[in-house]
Amino acid sequence: MAVIDILFPSPGLRVARIESEPFAEHSYVVAPVGAKKCLVIDPGFEPEAIIDWIRTEGLVPEAILLTHGHSDHIAGNEALRAEWPSLPILIGRGDAGKLIDPMGNLSGLFGLPLCSPPADRLLDHGERLTVAGVPLMTLEIPGHSSGHVVYRVEDCRPPVVFGGDVLFHEGIGRTDFPDGDFQALATGITTHLYTLPAETVILPGHGPTTTVGHELHSNPFVNRRGSQGNVV
Ligand SMILES: [Zn+2]
Repeated sequence: MAVIDILFPSPGLRVARIESEPFAEHSYVVAPVGAKKCLVIDPGFEPEAIIDWIRTEGLVPEAILLTHGHSDHIAGNEALRAEWPSLPILIGRGDAGKLIDPMGNLSGLFGLPLCSPPADRLLDHGERLTVAGVPLMTLEIPGHSSGHVVYRVEDCRPPVVFGGDVLFHEGIGRTDFPDGDFQALATGITTHLYTLPAETVILPGHGPTTTVGHELHSNPFVNRRGSQGNVV
């Protein structure tokens, strides 16, 4: 049963976090406060809960943004597209192939192979886009998945990052998948996240919300003292 929480990570920004079974994956529906348009990040295995919430709130989705191509983050794409046929799917260039490859998106390994509709737009590192009135910067951070991107909301204080499976509350994404790379993940976190203001809010793909400042001091794997080895 999906669990929905409403978050206000920064003034003017309303976020519904929908946690889906069986991987406790977080999908996010994001909209400026008072707006009617929204965007959906990483629709997971319980898309009915996402669709119900969007319908109940009277919102209109403008795009699906994906942090990476693993099955627990893309499983809802097809259902959302059935509901809103013109809804575009955006993903980092390096992970687009996983949408249509059950072994690449790991669903084949779990015995429940699934595919998503293909991507409509591929995003590159440093690309800026505005979706549903929310200005975003795409940052590529490989290591958990080779084409993983995170989305930084521009022009808000505190800054907000939709981080997927890169940096968790006192954890990091697994790097033991075929295209995993601990060093790349640690370098990406240090270069692109730990250089953001300490109050920056990280909304991850699993687990509690955290901040850059908390992880810099308390993350056991990548912190201000450096990187301390892999997690599997
Ligand atoms: Zn993943």
